[in-house]
Amino acid sequence: MFFLFSFSLTKTHAIINDYSLLGKAIYLDAGHGGIDAGAISNHIVEKDMNLVITYELASKLIAKGAYVYLTRDGDYDLSTTTYNRKRSDLYNRAKLINESKCDMFISIHLNSTTSSSWRGLQIFYNSKLEENEKIAKVISDTLTDKLNNVRDIKKENTYYMYKFLKVPGILIEAGFISNANDNYLLRQKDYRNKLTDAIALGIENYFSN
Ligand SMILES: [Zn+2]
Repeated sequence: MFFLFSFSLTKTHAIINDYSLLGKAIYLDAGHGGIDAGAISNHIVEKDMNLVITYELASKLIAKGAYVYLTRDGDYDLSTTTYNRKRSDLYNRAKLINESKCDMFISIHLNSTTSSSWRGLQIFYNSKLEENEKIAKVISDTLTDKLNNVRDIKKENTYYMYKFLKVPGILIEAGFISNANDNYLLRQKDYRNKLTDAIALGIENYFSN
């Protein structure tokens, strides 16, 4: 019996890479959902791709020992009113994150613009919490090291949801779906694998400092 037990334990260890995020709770927030599709460009619907990236990132974080919460795990928004639906959706996301007392949140979005030459990943943070800038910097440095086309970090205080957040974190615009190159890359599992590996490593680097 003991042998069997220790064997299965070894097997579990073999699946889990490391415990670098053991005890850390991270809230992943896939932007948009339901009637709110977000940006749509060249066959990518933002709400769907946000969820794909979120799930792929979640499994990487779990493999590092983290607890992972999701603001949504399917195609719906979180609004509880029909009046000012978007505002209600964002407020409820912030409420969930705050009440969880997690260590960090990461919002996942995709960019789109009328200029098809704009490309690259970009991190946004709200300066209300001092820690946010540090998270943005560490994760951005890690992403720059691992991926091409990482744009400069942007301090952005206007996003409605982020005014309410008491938990530190950042928003990642994971690329411009209006750009043919970014759009193509985001549809490749290999690229998303590189992307989520780099984000997970960035989170790890932040907590190890
Ligand atoms: Zn978005």
